[in-house]
Amino acid sequence: MRFDCPNCGQIDKALVDGYGIGDRLLEDVWFEIVIDGKKLKVKVDDDAKDYFDQFDSKLWYDIVEKEVRNGHAECPNCHEEIKLIP
Ligand SMILES: [Zn+2]
Repeated sequence: MRFDCPNCGQIDKALVDGYGIGDRLLEDVWFEIVIDGKKLKVKVDDDAKDYFDQFDSKLWYDIVEKEVRNGHAECPNCHEEIKLIP
């Protein structure tokens, strides 16, 4: 598995904007996704950690993972939409 950005080529990390999945609840909350073997590892950005602690992280991480698998994630360098190549 790998992330592929149309501008940067292969990248090791993808970002998902919380606003896209949680609307105003997760506004300004960003998620970082890395590939770990055959799995995706999701974590909330350090800046949003304290705020995000009040939510069910497992639930949201699953939603973030689905977004990434559906191609709704962006490149941390150029913010272009990236693809997850199986
Ligand atoms: Zn890029």
